[in-house]
Amino acid sequence: MIIQPKIRGFICTTAHPEGCARHVQEQIEYVKSRPKQAAGPKKVLVIGASTGYGLASRIAATFGSGAATIGVFFEKPASGSRTASAGWYNTAAFEQAAQAEGYYATSLNGDAFSDELKQQTIARIREDLGQVDLVVYSLASPRRTHPRTGETFTSVIKPIGAAYTNKTVDVHSGKVSEITVEPATEEEVRHTVAIMGGEDWIMWMDALQEAGVLAEGVQTVAYSYIGPSVTHAIYREGTIGRAKDDLEKSAHELNGKLSELSGKAYVSVNKALVTQSSAAIPIVPLYISLLYKVMKEKNLHEGCIEQMVRLFEERLYTNGAVPVDEKGRIRVDDLEMREDVQQAVADLWGQVTTDNLESISDIAGYRSEFLRLFGFGLAGIDYEAETEADVAVPTLS
Ligand code: NAD
Repeated sequence: MIIQPKIRGFICTTAHPEGCARHVQEQIEYVKSRPKQAAGPKKVLVIGASTGYGLASRIAATFGSGAATIGVFFEKPASGSRTASAGWYNTAAFEQAAQAEGYYATSLNGDAFSDELKQQTIARIREDLGQVDLVVYSLASPRRTHPRTGETFTSVIKPIGAAYTNKTVDVHSGKVSEITVEPATEEEVRHTVAIMGGEDWIMWMDALQEAGVLAEGVQTVAYSYIGPSVTHAIYREGTIGRAKDDLEKSAHELNGKLSELSGKAYVSVNKALVTQSSAAIPIVPLYISLLYKVMKEKNLHEGCIEQMVRLFEERLYTNGAVPVDEKGRIRVDDLEMREDVQQAVADLWGQVTTDNLESISDIAGYRSEFLRLFGFGLAGIDYEAETEADVAVPTLS
């Protein structure tokens, strides 16, 4: 079929297999352009491995330190006139590239919140790797069914306590307007924490530890975000921030549990980036458009892969102590949070309107990054050509 982007609100319902493969290849090439990391991870489980930060973690571990990886995710293969999801195509391309260079890579597609998928993953680790020395937890989901109670949670992205009004942008039309987001109810806060908080991370680590598939000195890392004051009400002090507080608390709990293996749990605070998840948050895409403008001008811009390479090379695997902030968190949002960067973004935030959006922000970069997530707009791909949508993930077929 001929595959073109079909945008519905903040998602794209189509994905291009060759474009996704090229996007993955670019990330692989970036990692390969860097010195090999002898000290890096060797046997890695990535939960949420098909897009965004999890995919970049998988690529950085494989091509940076030659790691064998098991990737867990929830993606759809092509069916009928529908393309597969981007994460499916990303994984097909990743596995092929990894296996072509002799690296072990296998994937499990299903609900990571379920006990069943956890047990299948444990069986795969036992059969093929014995144990893992790094567990990356990078899930982002709007829903979770609790494996023990059967309750289904749905997350919301809302402020807590009071309504919040600020600027936002409709990325596709370029219209800047004011949005008021009503505060969450207690129940909505509980649901969001149940999905994006630390309970499932702890369940994964407990299951892996009980099964004896965590190596001595194992490390685990989950991802968080803080960001500037313009996004605080909607993000860090809102429902999702409550979930991130819970995730960060869970790292401390896991540190206690992992001490018998001399293992460590970390939360890494990453940079704001265009991903399928961040596109769904009000106010944040406008902030990201301004942030990209400032960081690109200052030559400080990073994407997921640059962030994850820096996490591995300069934070987790330095042969020395892992540098953390006063709350024990790894910070790779340091460049985003630099005072000069934040001051410049704040100045632009005050000025930005529909009329000057194109010139004072990097909305064009935002749009192009968004399309690239689905494999569109990559150089060298003929988007008018007939393309086979039914692509196999080698270890899932
Ligand atoms: P993403 O949407 O690109 O990736 C989410 C991953 O989770 C995908 O691999 C998807 O398949 C998987 N997934 C979702 N539901 C699943 C389920 N039920 N079972 C199995 N897999 C499932 O998201 P992302 O932006 O890379 O976010 C990953 C983490 O990084 C999140 O914790 C997010 O809060 C954090 N983070 C994101 C940003 C940002 O700006 N994007 C910044 C800092 C931290």
